[in-house]
Amino acid sequence: MNVIIFGPPGAGKGTQAINISNKLNLFQVSTGDLLRSEVKNKTDIGKDIENTISKGDFATDEIVNDLIKKVVFDPEKKNKLIFDGYPRSLSQAKNLEILLKKSNQKIEFIFFLNVKKETIIKRIEKRSLLENRADDNLSTILKRYDAYMETTKPVLDFYSKNENFYEIDGSEEITEISTKIEQILSV
Ligand code: AMP
Repeated sequence: MNVIIFGPPGAGKGTQAINISNKLNLFQVSTGDLLRSEVKNKTDIGKDIENTISKGDFATDEIVNDLIKKVVFDPEKKNKLIFDGYPRSLSQAKNLEILLKKSNQKIEFIFFLNVKKETIIKRIEKRSLLENRADDNLSTILKRYDAYMETTKPVLDFYSKNENFYEIDGSEEITEISTKIEQILSV
Protein backbone atom coordinates (compact mmCIF):
# COMPACT_ATOMS: atom_id res chain seq x y z
CA MET A 1 0.00 0.00 0.00
CA ASN A 2 1.24 3.48 -0.90
CA VAL A 3 0.10 6.49 1.10
CA ILE A 4 0.53 10.27 0.83
CA ILE A 5 0.33 12.42 3.91
CA PHE A 6 0.48 16.15 3.42
CA GLY A 7 -0.35 19.37 5.18
CA PRO A 8 1.36 22.57 6.31
CA PRO A 9 4.74 22.42 8.08
CA GLY A 10 4.21 21.57 11.73
CA ALA A 11 0.92 19.76 11.10
CA GLY A 12 2.42 16.54 12.43
CA LYS A 13 2.94 14.76 9.09
CA GLY A 14 6.24 13.27 10.18
CA THR A 15 4.85 11.91 13.45
CA GLN A 16 1.86 10.33 11.72
CA ALA A 17 3.99 8.99 8.87
CA ILE A 18 6.30 7.25 11.35
CA ASN A 19 3.34 5.77 13.19
CA ILE A 20 1.74 4.43 10.00
CA SER A 21 5.02 3.11 8.66
CA ASN A 22 5.58 1.19 11.90
CA LYS A 23 2.07 -0.25 11.95
CA LEU A 24 2.01 -1.25 8.28
CA ASN A 25 5.67 -1.93 7.67
CA LEU A 26 6.00 0.90 5.15
CA PHE A 27 8.97 3.08 4.28
CA GLN A 28 8.59 6.71 5.29
CA VAL A 29 9.73 8.93 2.42
CA SER A 30 10.37 12.36 3.88
CA THR A 31 11.82 14.75 1.32
CA GLY A 32 12.79 17.05 4.20
CA ASP A 33 14.86 14.22 5.74
CA LEU A 34 16.33 13.26 2.36
CA LEU A 35 17.37 16.87 1.73
CA ARG A 36 18.77 17.38 5.24
CA SER A 37 20.79 14.21 4.84
CA GLU A 38 22.32 15.58 1.60
CA VAL A 39 23.29 18.74 3.52
CA LYS A 40 24.73 16.74 6.41
CA ASN A 41 26.78 14.55 4.08
CA LYS A 42 28.01 17.62 2.23
CA THR A 43 27.13 16.17 -1.18
CA ASP A 44 27.00 18.45 -4.24
CA ILE A 45 23.23 18.65 -3.89
CA GLY A 46 23.65 19.33 -0.16
CA LYS A 47 25.98 22.28 -0.75
CA ASP A 48 23.59 23.60 -3.37
CA ILE A 49 20.49 23.54 -1.17
CA GLU A 50 21.89 24.34 2.28
CA ASN A 51 21.01 28.04 2.14
CA THR A 52 17.68 27.48 0.44
CA ILE A 53 16.48 25.09 3.12
CA SER A 54 17.71 27.13 6.06
CA LYS A 55 15.78 30.13 4.70
CA GLY A 56 12.63 28.05 4.41
CA ASP A 57 12.53 28.16 0.62
CA PHE A 58 11.75 25.10 -1.46
CA ALA A 59 14.45 23.03 -3.10
CA THR A 60 13.99 22.87 -6.88
CA ASP A 61 11.62 20.29 -8.34
CA GLU A 62 14.55 18.87 -10.30
CA ILE A 63 16.50 18.01 -7.14
CA VAL A 64 13.53 16.69 -5.21
CA ASN A 65 12.06 14.70 -8.12
CA ASP A 66 15.42 13.04 -8.63
CA LEU A 67 15.64 11.94 -5.00
CA ILE A 68 12.06 10.63 -5.14
CA LYS A 69 12.66 8.73 -8.37
CA LYS A 70 15.34 6.59 -6.71
CA VAL A 71 12.95 5.67 -3.91
CA VAL A 72 9.95 4.92 -6.14
CA PHE A 73 12.04 2.58 -8.32
CA ASP A 74 13.66 0.81 -5.37
CA PRO A 75 12.24 -2.75 -5.63
CA GLU A 76 12.53 -3.27 -1.88
CA LYS A 77 10.16 -0.36 -1.29
CA LYS A 78 7.65 -1.07 -4.04
CA ASN A 79 4.07 -0.60 -2.82
CA LYS A 80 5.36 0.17 0.68
CA LEU A 81 5.74 3.92 0.43
CA ILE A 82 4.44 6.63 2.66
CA PHE A 83 5.18 10.06 1.26
CA ASP A 84 5.70 12.77 3.85
CA GLY A 85 6.38 16.26 2.52
CA TYR A 86 6.07 15.24 -1.12
CA PRO A 87 4.46 16.30 -3.40
CA ARG A 88 4.52 19.94 -2.37
CA SER A 89 3.72 21.51 -5.73
CA LEU A 90 1.45 20.65 -8.62
CA SER A 91 4.41 19.80 -10.84
CA GLN A 92 5.72 17.41 -8.17
CA ALA A 93 2.25 15.81 -7.94
CA LYS A 94 2.20 15.29 -11.67
CA ASN A 95 5.74 13.93 -11.61
CA LEU A 96 4.74 11.44 -8.92
CA GLU A 97 1.80 10.24 -11.04
CA ILE A 98 4.20 9.56 -13.91
CA LEU A 99 6.75 7.75 -11.72
CA LEU A 100 4.05 5.59 -10.14
CA LYS A 101 2.53 4.71 -13.48
CA LYS A 102 5.96 3.78 -14.90
CA SER A 103 6.69 1.58 -11.89
CA ASN A 104 3.22 0.04 -11.94
CA GLN A 105 2.11 1.45 -8.60
CA LYS A 106 -0.67 3.64 -7.32
CA ILE A 107 -1.62 5.61 -4.23
CA GLU A 108 -4.25 3.95 -2.06
CA PHE A 109 -4.75 6.68 0.55
CA ILE A 110 -4.21 10.43 0.61
CA PHE A 111 -4.39 12.24 3.95
CA PHE A 112 -4.49 15.99 4.32
CA LEU A 113 -3.66 17.12 7.86
CA ASN A 114 -5.35 20.48 8.14
CA VAL A 115 -4.23 22.77 10.93
CA LYS A 116 -4.41 26.47 11.77
CA LYS A 117 -1.40 28.77 11.58
CA GLU A 118 -1.44 29.55 15.35
CA THR A 119 -1.34 25.87 16.28
CA ILE A 120 1.54 25.28 13.89
CA ILE A 121 3.57 28.16 15.30
CA LYS A 122 3.15 26.85 18.85
CA ARG A 123 4.13 23.32 17.83
CA ILE A 124 7.18 24.33 15.84
CA GLU A 125 8.42 26.57 18.65
CA LYS A 126 8.22 23.58 20.95
CA ARG A 127 9.99 21.33 18.44
CA SER A 128 12.77 23.90 17.90
CA LEU A 129 13.49 23.82 21.62
CA LEU A 130 13.56 20.03 21.63
CA GLU A 131 15.46 19.32 18.44
CA ASN A 132 17.25 22.57 17.71
CA ARG A 133 16.59 22.38 13.98
CA ALA A 134 18.33 25.22 12.13
CA ASP A 135 15.33 25.87 9.89
CA ASP A 136 12.94 26.28 12.77
CA ASN A 137 13.13 29.91 13.83
CA LEU A 138 9.94 31.95 13.75
CA SER A 139 10.50 33.90 10.56
CA THR A 140 11.41 30.66 8.79
CA ILE A 141 8.25 29.07 10.11
CA LEU A 142 6.09 31.87 8.73
CA LYS A 143 7.89 31.77 5.43
CA ARG A 144 7.44 28.02 5.21
CA TYR A 145 3.75 28.38 6.01
CA ASP A 146 3.25 31.03 3.33
CA ALA A 147 5.29 29.07 0.79
CA TYR A 148 3.19 26.06 1.63
CA MET A 149 -0.07 27.95 1.16
CA GLU A 150 1.07 29.33 -2.16
CA THR A 151 2.44 26.20 -3.78
CA THR A 152 0.61 23.39 -2.05
CA LYS A 153 -2.93 24.71 -2.46
CA PRO A 154 -3.04 23.47 -6.08
CA VAL A 155 -1.86 20.07 -4.80
CA LEU A 156 -4.79 20.05 -2.41
CA ASP A 157 -7.19 20.91 -5.24
CA PHE A 158 -5.58 18.19 -7.36
CA TYR A 159 -5.99 15.45 -4.74
CA SER A 160 -9.23 16.50 -3.06
CA LYS A 161 -11.21 15.24 -6.07
CA ASN A 162 -9.74 11.78 -5.55
CA GLU A 163 -12.02 9.21 -3.91
CA ASN A 164 -9.18 8.12 -1.60
CA PHE A 165 -8.72 11.62 -0.22
CA TYR A 166 -9.27 12.18 3.52
CA GLU A 167 -9.04 15.49 5.34
CA ILE A 168 -8.09 15.12 9.01
CA ASP A 169 -8.20 17.82 11.68
CA GLY A 170 -4.52 18.14 12.55
CA SER A 171 -5.11 20.38 15.57
CA GLU A 172 -6.30 17.41 17.64
CA GLU A 173 -4.07 15.39 19.96
CA ILE A 174 -1.49 13.23 18.19
CA THR A 175 -3.03 9.99 19.48
CA GLU A 176 -6.52 11.00 18.33
CA ILE A 177 -5.22 11.80 14.86
CA SER A 178 -3.41 8.45 14.75
CA THR A 179 -6.60 6.63 15.75
CA LYS A 180 -8.59 8.34 13.00
CA ILE A 181 -5.97 7.52 10.38
CA GLU A 182 -5.73 3.91 11.57
CA GLN A 183 -9.51 3.54 11.38
CA ILE A 184 -9.50 4.69 7.77
CA LEU A 185 -6.61 2.36 6.96
CA SER A 186 -8.34 -0.41 8.97
CA VAL A 187 -5.24 -1.36 10.94
P1 AMP B 1 10.09 19.31 6.09
O1 AMP B 1 10.98 18.51 6.95
O2 AMP B 1 9.11 18.46 5.30
O3 AMP B 1 9.37 20.38 6.87
O4 AMP B 1 11.00 20.05 5.00
C1 AMP B 1 12.03 20.93 5.39
C2 AMP B 1 12.47 21.80 4.21
O5 AMP B 1 12.96 20.97 3.14
C3 AMP B 1 11.36 22.62 3.56
O6 AMP B 1 11.13 23.83 4.23
C4 AMP B 1 11.91 22.83 2.16
O7 AMP B 1 12.92 23.80 2.19
C5 AMP B 1 12.59 21.50 1.88
N1 AMP B 1 11.64 20.52 1.25
C6 AMP B 1 11.09 19.42 1.82
N2 AMP B 1 10.30 18.75 0.97
C7 AMP B 1 10.33 19.46 -0.19
C8 AMP B 1 9.71 19.30 -1.46
N3 AMP B 1 8.87 18.28 -1.72
N4 AMP B 1 9.98 20.23 -2.42
C9 AMP B 1 10.82 21.26 -2.19
N5 AMP B 1 11.45 21.49 -1.02
C10 AMP B 1 11.20 20.59 -0.02
